[in-house]
Amino acid sequence: MSYKRRRTIFTVLLFVSLVFIWGMFPSAPAEGMYPLSEIPKNDLTKAGLKINPDEIFNPDGVSYIDALVKLGGCTGSFVSRDGLIITNHHCAFRAVNKASTTEHNYLRDGFLANEKEEEIPAEGYACRIADSYEDVSEEVLAAAEGIDDLTERNQAIRDKMAELAADASDSENSIEAQVSEMFVGKTYVLFKYRIIKDVRLVYVPPRSVGEFGGETDNWIWPRHTGDFSFVRAYVAPDGSAAEYSKENVPYHPKKFLRINPKGVQEGDFVFILGYPGRTFRHMPARFVEYQEKIQLPYISQLFEWMIDEMEALSKEDEALQLEYASQIKGLANTMKNYKGKLRGLKRLQLVRQKFDEENKLKEFIESDKSLKEKYGSLFDEINGLYDEQFEIGKAYLWLRMFTRFSDVYRLAQTFQSYREKFEAEEPDSASGNLNELKETLIGLIEKSDGNFDKAFVTKMFYDAGKFGEERKINAAELLNGKTAEEFAEELFSSKLLDKDFIENELCASVESVKNFDDILTRTAKSVFNQTLELTAKTKELSGVRTDLLAKFVNAKMAWKKQSFIPDANGTLRLTYGYVKGYYPADAVYYSPITSLSGVIDKSMLGGEYAIPDKLKTLYDNKEFGEFYNDELGGVPVAILYDTDTTGGNSGSPILNAYGELIGVNFDRAYEATINDYQWDESYSRSIGVDIRYVLWIAKYLSGADNLLKEITEKI
Ligand code: ASP
Repeated sequence: MSYKRRRTIFTVLLFVSLVFIWGMFPSAPAEGMYPLSEIPKNDLTKAGLKINPDEIFNPDGVSYIDALVKLGGCTGSFVSRDGLIITNHHCAFRAVNKASTTEHNYLRDGFLANEKEEEIPAEGYACRIADSYEDVSEEVLAAAEGIDDLTERNQAIRDKMAELAADASDSENSIEAQVSEMFVGKTYVLFKYRIIKDVRLVYVPPRSVGEFGGETDNWIWPRHTGDFSFVRAYVAPDGSAAEYSKENVPYHPKKFLRINPKGVQEGDFVFILGYPGRTFRHMPARFVEYQEKIQLPYISQLFEWMIDEMEALSKEDEALQLEYASQIKGLANTMKNYKGKLRGLKRLQLVRQKFDEENKLKEFIESDKSLKEKYGSLFDEINGLYDEQFEIGKAYLWLRMFTRFSDVYRLAQTFQSYREKFEAEEPDSASGNLNELKETLIGLIEKSDGNFDKAFVTKMFYDAGKFGEERKINAAELLNGKTAEEFAEELFSSKLLDKDFIENELCASVESVKNFDDILTRTAKSVFNQTLELTAKTKELSGVRTDLLAKFVNAKMAWKKQSFIPDANGTLRLTYGYVKGYYPADAVYYSPITSLSGVIDKSMLGGEYAIPDKLKTLYDNKEFGEFYNDELGGVPVAILYDTDTTGGNSGSPILNAYGELIGVNFDRAYEATINDYQWDESYSRSIGVDIRYVLWIAKYLSGADNLLKEITEKI
């Protein structure tokens, strides 16, 4: 599609030989996360699909789309008429983590509800099912017509998007609408989603299966992770969306997927439906340069430091380990993804490639008078925008991370906001709020993680002191010659952290609140003010960006004489491809299906590869049942395929040519992390857990007989 393939001779040869061996697909799929409207334009039948494409997407009837759910930042799919959903272990992780205690450590040991009554509410989880969509670009853009100021223009667009979504939402019928920007400043689609608010945990394998290989194997092939879990959607007895209640009943989806326990083979056609989060393929070279120089290194280094610190602090403390588990997992996932991207950027020299491409686009613009009139200054403007972005970038990231992660900042800033409120209020109403202030502050102190926070604040101010040419962190001036350690010591000896002082002195009168001032509150104030300043600047830049990106994509379309597939934006997409290996490095070939013997082999290393004893016993006793595969000589575990996926596709169903579920997508290979900026068939590979492993684990390791009956009863 929109990007030229850059295969090495090696991969071309491999590809040709594989086509020859399989002799089954006419051409490899190109980049493509196709929105619903594009699905009918694809010749999926030619690519290998054996069912009518209407069965996948049919705006006038029931289709596979009705079996799909957006589950938080992930995807899931219905696999029974009783609202059972299959997704990833890492997608249910937060809920399992929350339900776990040191006595009932479901995260470590797994969880199985034998009866519906035993299912546990997945706190904070909700599902969305796509109901309909409609192009509303004209209405959205009309709202910005005649507005010259780019910040105001952008705001007018955002306001109109929110207004259309609010008008189309219908809470009585459990419909929530959302307008999604498909091409920045160009195309907008209104999606209506049916909401389900009661989601319960049904079956989660032990962590040693669901997260086998931990962070070492994350984003890596060959993979042996059983990254799956089952949850169930519930609604009120009248079918409407309702928060958890005992009276709720399982939701009956319009469509649920059939499982094919026979799985797949190398070369098979597969397709994936899901909710990919964000890609940035239509962004200018300078955006990618910004990622490479500022965003990716800064965040990956900071997250790495945070993880090390949390691990060190919780080493001997199981309760603290449980407390940190979800946070560490999230940080580590991003950190490794960013490192993979940095490596890919360097390996592909992507920034240079993008600049080369833009130079050709510039030549094209220069060659045509009317194009020159329209787009002649485009690249200067893009440069101007990114010069400013570079200038504030690191400081803005520092402020965002500091305000997001520091408990002591949150405490001081909460105090400040009350104080400002008190200053604006009549003394009587202010004193009426003293109790609320007291409880809020004490609550924050009790929830705060002092040890980690102190180390974090020290690190952040140490870093801020070393910022070079970049925009400075104003609060760093408060160090006044002190070291970051000394400064943190001072911040953490603030009386705002002393519960007795809060109870007996600070919150005793409005006056004492108004008069309280120390280095902590001054630091918080400085951080807060600079955050406001840079947020306003960022908003201004994003108005300019909206305008420029619309022009940039128009110019590119005129040049390439084709339209593009919009970048992923959290809306429903289809992607297809084949079960297929690749060459990740010189002289290394990765074949596309792993098996149980690989799990056993890695388990010798222990640590993140430790497995339940029972799994080893099953293996030793050769209890593979119907899931043994002759060709592989074992039970298949994970599969690799050349679809186009990104974060958010986690939990997406992998379907075969007949539309049967043969696996659950959960990751990409390390080399493929770069595909958020540029997809290429030679390195873009997604990773899923094979349905045969899901069934084998559920049946043999966990004895989940009821669950198996429920999902296989229709076969
Ligand atoms: N592991 C990813 C996720 O969490 C999937 C991916 O980025 O490919 O959504």
